Amino acid sequence: MNLHEYQARDLLKKYNINFPTGEIGSTPQEIFDISKKFGGEVVAKAQIHSGGRGKAGGVKLCSTPSEAKNFANSILGKKIVTSQTDSEGVIVEKILITNTTIISREIYLSIVIDPDFESPVLIASSEGGTEIEKMAEESPNKITKIAFDPVLGAKPYELRRVISKLEIPKNAIKDFYSLVNNLFKAFIETDSTLIEINPLIIDDNENIVPLDCKINLDDDSYFRQKELFSLRDKNQENPIETRAKDFDLAYVKLDKGNVGCLVNGAGLAMATMDVTTKSGCFPANFLDVGGSTDKEKIKEAFRILVSDENVEYLLINLFAGIARADLIAQGVVEAAEETLFKLPIIVSMRGTNSEEGFEILKRSKLNIHIAKDLGQAANILSEINKANK
Ligand code: GDP
Ligand code: MN
Repeated sequence: MNLHEYQARDLLKKYNINFPTGEIGSTPQEIFDISKKFGGEVVAKAQIHSGGRGKAGGVKLCSTPSEAKNFANSILGKKIVTSQTDSEGVIVEKILITNTTIISREIYLSIVIDPDFESPVLIASSEGGTEIEKMAEESPNKITKIAFDPVLGAKPYELRRVISKLEIPKNAIKDFYSLVNNLFKAFIETDSTLIEINPLIIDDNENIVPLDCKINLDDDSYFRQKELFSLRDKNQENPIETRAKDFDLAYVKLDKGNVGCLVNGAGLAMATMDVTTKSGCFPANFLDVGGSTDKEKIKEAFRILVSDENVEYLLINLFAGIARADLIAQGVVEAAEETLFKLPIIVSMRGTNSEEGFEILKRSKLNIHIAKDLGQAANILSEINKANK
């Protein structure tokens, strides 16, 4: 789960990490009043679950309260598309007003879990800011990575290397040590998968100041982080992905593609996506209903898939191990009838009660094509697609 910037700032304050003073508002008048209170010259920042706001027009340096109010007027209630959102964008419902800071240099700093190191790592670069992705691609050697010991934290000699690479000013070195240690403490205690400070800036007095913060919490920690999860903002999430999550389905909408894929297990999902692409089509989604699926879950998965208007065909590829193929088939038929689904459905299904499952599908009035394996499913898909073009 993502936190908003203003929520992340509040959270990190408890760990002695202090951002420039800020306040949140949700109407143009509130933004005007806050800006006036802050002395007029402020930074106005759209609160959305996405970075890349600076480039997308979601961050504005304002010199008067009226300018901040106009910005609020132009952006509140509207959607912003950034390089990190889908083409629909996400809605702006709140704006953070902060005091301005004079920037002499922007640094990138983050903590993430690294599968290679099998531990949290600190990622740092002397060139942070809005061009970080481009920089990471073009000059990856400017990025330093060190592993944290899960108990002891960062090793001092490794941190010294980072400090020297980042060229942290002498009088800010002590603060930098504290910042990294406090961030790490926050990372562990909040079950984060990402804490990113970009930019961490060096100001005109050679102090380090964090200006922006992004926190992502591990969804699996919900059971012990209930208070943090109450900060969830469902309006920032893709509504279909949220619905899927509520049914414990792993669903990711893909940008292009016309084949809705209903599968169980990530391995099958990957194979199905490969085969779909090879057949000349493209998957419209990644939908994994999990190993121990039941009829209700299948029905919800089906409804989600057909709510995507790009879907022209449905490819169902299931291995019934714990789940039963006849119940799965029953779910498919009921959901298809309920949604009046008429498009071709290609089914490859093996395992427990698969024969009974096929019987149920054949008896239905659906446009069903039964394949004995995934290869044949791909051939059928390819033929139907050719005939349709
Ligand atoms: P992001 O684009 O979503 O990551 O939003 P940020 O909060 O990182 O802001 C984008 C950029 O706006 C930063 O990299 C800074 O260059 C600039 N910015 C943000 N706050 C200030 C500020 O107080 N003063 C100045 N001069 N620039 C700022
Ligand atoms: Mn940023």
